[in-house]
Amino acid sequence: MKGLVARIEELKCRRNAVILAHNYQRPEIQEIADFTGDSLDLSRKAAGTEAEVVVFCGVRFMAETAAVISPGKIILLPDADAGCPLADTVDTGRLRAKINECPEDTAVVCYVNSPVEVKAESDICCTSSNAVDIVNSLGNRNILFLPDKNLGNFVSSKTEKNVILWDGFCPCHMKPAAGDISKLKRKYPEAVVFAHPECREEVIQMADEVLSTGGMLQLAARTKAKRIIIATEEGILYRLRKENPGKEFYLANDNLYCPDMKLITLEKVLKSLVEMKHRILIPKRIADRARKSIDRMLGVCS
Ligand code: 13P
Repeated sequence: MKGLVARIEELKCRRNAVILAHNYQRPEIQEIADFTGDSLDLSRKAAGTEAEVVVFCGVRFMAETAAVISPGKIILLPDADAGCPLADTVDTGRLRAKINECPEDTAVVCYVNSPVEVKAESDICCTSSNAVDIVNSLGNRNILFLPDKNLGNFVSSKTEKNVILWDGFCPCHMKPAAGDISKLKRKYPEAVVFAHPECREEVIQMADEVLSTGGMLQLAARTKAKRIIIATEEGILYRLRKENPGKEFYLANDNLYCPDMKLITLEKVLKSLVEMKHRILIPKRIADRARKSIDRMLGVCS
């Protein structure tokens, strides 16, 4: 294991590369990363880094976002198959058809978990940590929110605006149900519940806090609660436990596992640095338009 890590470190220096990892990545990937964070943190880091190469340990839409906002850099995704079933629920053909059904003043807000071509056709992008602020920044317009219906529904509950939902969802975040939370609350009555906004409404209603993965990490460190029920992908437990040794964390459901997030291994990170693969290349015409929707988001929540 050590040899592999040392080779990654050596090659990282030689290539002037930085490793970014999402909070759901395997522990050993989080360990070698220069920075670990949620989708918004990672977008900001990719935009701000001086490195020439970014090895993006996450899924395709995240690496695409990095490529769009850092056009001069080489963005590598160590496994080309690391996708997102939620992002795959939307494409430009279906989006255009839906826009045609919406009132004329409708603003299209796309969650960062979407293909780059969809970002290019949207007015503004958002992440789980800023979705409410982004929607509230859009005046009195109707909102078409895509692709996550649970996040869209959560946003809708926090604003006065008319929010039209897309019928997408994350298979992992759909798993926990109200019964799972009740069961854990019976066992640990004093525990607080942190839920990701991609969870079902019934789970969100039982949550004490609805947060992005980065928000969960920040609040876990600050809260006085010693027991916390976590409704999001299990990869986050690694940092939660490491950074909060005096607290206990319980996953809302035993099956909160995203297979795409776990595709990236140390071997694949090394291979990506050796072979400079898999490079994310986005046609300039699409990247330029997608950048506008991402930059608008960063302008609202910088
Ligand atoms: P965060 O931005 O909260 O890390 O969420 C990313 C994600 O893909 C959730 O499924």
